[in-house]
Amino acid sequence: QITVDHVIRFLERAAALIRDHAAELTELDTVIGDADHGTNLNRGFSAVVVKLDALQDGDIGTILDVTGKTLLATVGGAAGPLYGTAFRRAGALLAGRYTIDGADIAAALEVALKGIVERGRVQRGEKTMLDAIAPGVDTFRTAIVQGQSLEEAARCALVAVEEGMRATIPMQATKGRAAFLGPRSIGHQDPGATSAYYIACAMVGLDA
Ligand code: ADP
Ligand code: MG
Ligand code: MG
Repeated sequence: QITVDHVIRFLERAAALIRDHAAELTELDTVIGDADHGTNLNRGFSAVVVKLDALQDGDIGTILDVTGKTLLATVGGAAGPLYGTAFRRAGALLAGRYTIDGADIAAALEVALKGIVERGRVQRGEKTMLDAIAPGVDTFRTAIVQGQSLEEAARCALVAVEEGMRATIPMQATKGRAAFLGPRSIGHQDPGATSAYYIACAMVGLDA
């Protein structure tokens, strides 16, 4: 069982990982974007952490909804609306819930993924955050359906996210700023896929 406390600690870990890797994320975005991905996300997740203090007694849905709204209001760029929508959709699904299990998390990840696909008008293989997130969500759901423990499912999903992140390197971008580079976007890891990996690390409970 996952509680409000677990969710708050996940968001705090995510904020810490994004902060610690902000320079790296911005560096990746310098190569195939406009050099702001780490700065954008660090600003957003820092704002989320400030909001968390007032939400200790809130339900999981409210916490995720406030997280999404805060990211929408503070991150900007392409990633703000995408991550913002993802967290808000998950929050709507988990409205009023104080504890959740693996099946709830799988369902929340599904609606979050759908939010990114709709908002970004994006498919797999376009060299975006979706290419890291989608395999992770698939793997997590399959593991839960097969009866694996939450910990095991999360570990398998993280491996899939990391592979998905690396798989963006040989892709040619057809969405976002990197698409302007055409074939010159090939050979570089996508910044959004990389931030998605760090957020997944925070979900699994890893500090690095
Ligand atoms: P911007 O490019 O507007 O400066 P960021 O640098 O914060 O925004 O985020 C860039 C990341 O957003 C990309 O690396 C990519 O993963 C993701 N991205 C951009 N456009 C889309 C889209 N249409 N769908 C999904 N992800 C996208
Ligand atoms: Mg950028
Ligand atoms: Mg930008």
